[in-house]
Amino acid sequence: MAKKHILIVPGDGIGQEVTAVGKKVLDKIAVRFNHEFTYDEALIGHVAIEATGDPLPAESLEKMRNSDAVLFGAVGHPKYDNDPSAKVRPEQGLLKMRKELGLYANLRPIKLFDELLGASSIKPEILKGADILFFRELTGDIYFGEKGRKNNGDTAYDVAEYSRYEVQRIGRKAFEAARTRRKKLVSVDKANVLESSRLWREEIQKLALEYPDIEVEYQFVDATAMILIKEPTRFDVVVTANLFGDILTDEASQIAGSMGMLASASIGDGTGVYEPIHGSAHDITGKGLANPMASVLSAALLLDISFGMKEESEAIISAIDQVLKKGFRTRDIADKTTDPSMILGTDAIGEEILKLL
Ligand code: NAD
Repeated sequence: MAKKHILIVPGDGIGQEVTAVGKKVLDKIAVRFNHEFTYDEALIGHVAIEATGDPLPAESLEKMRNSDAVLFGAVGHPKYDNDPSAKVRPEQGLLKMRKELGLYANLRPIKLFDELLGASSIKPEILKGADILFFRELTGDIYFGEKGRKNNGDTAYDVAEYSRYEVQRIGRKAFEAARTRRKKLVSVDKANVLESSRLWREEIQKLALEYPDIEVEYQFVDATAMILIKEPTRFDVVVTANLFGDILTDEASQIAGSMGMLASASIGDGTGVYEPIHGSAHDITGKGLANPMASVLSAALLLDISFGMKEESEAIISAIDQVLKKGFRTRDIADKTTDPSMILGTDAIGEEILKLL
């Protein structure tokens, strides 16, 4: 039996709806596996601005630091999307949370449930069996280097920078994860052209000496972009820099078909944050149409990564698999062949998952 304190941070829009289902699933796991989970809630995003004027109030940050893990929903509101000049914005809360908690590694598992093979734009025979875990570095690279204009503003530059330490800490996380999976790691860079990539590769090569049980492959990012579509089953764990990871993980998300099915984890040396990859989806907010499975899968990642509860995590994934096998769908993952009576709303599909747990 384990005692854990989990902070629920639903945020905005469908974040509220899907996170409620994620929390119920955590509750059910606690009962089934005899754990004691306690919860608190905190504000972020538009709801936090409305209540306090601040997209990430100090109180929320304090609660995050004092919890064992955070289950987060999404931030965003049409009010700000239509007003790019707004000084206080929901996404500032998200960036501040990542920075303040030192979340330098973003993990995105790309796993396709067999039942949804037809939902992807890639041929089922190429996709079948694809199961990839991305490690994207999150606090360095061209996004955080020096940037500016010169030549009277006619030339712009962004500097890509990595320190050995930054590469080592994410590299080590990726090697450790590969050890618990199929023991294969692909490190993606552009070492034929970029100096920061050469340092990246040097550090991964050094780490590889410490992990002789892991088969390491080095790929240039342009090749990875191609192989992801051509032969996605070739990958197990992938580790890459911030910019390459940003692009490759969005490309890879298409392997899984729908945004409503993908979870991510942002981790550092303190509290980890677990969240769906989708946003607050204003177009369906309040209609009970949101697919809660990305939030439920985020809860599964939370248990696995922050609490080391593999069996509990797998029980959740298996429950989702069975719900899909029974033919239940939310609207975003339904297709022409789906029986309309099997298309359920957010809470109803959540109940089906809970029943199987
Ligand atoms: P989005 O991910 O919210 O929605 C994109 C499309 O996918 C919409 O049509 C939506 O209905 C659908 N969709 C998303 N999640 C779904 C789910 N669980 N079930 C069913 N359908 C789902 O992206 P967007 O529309 O570009 O952005 C909306 C808002 O979300 C914006 O304010 C944006 O800034 C914010 N956003 C936040 C995050 C985050 O908090 N991490 C990420 C992306 C976008």
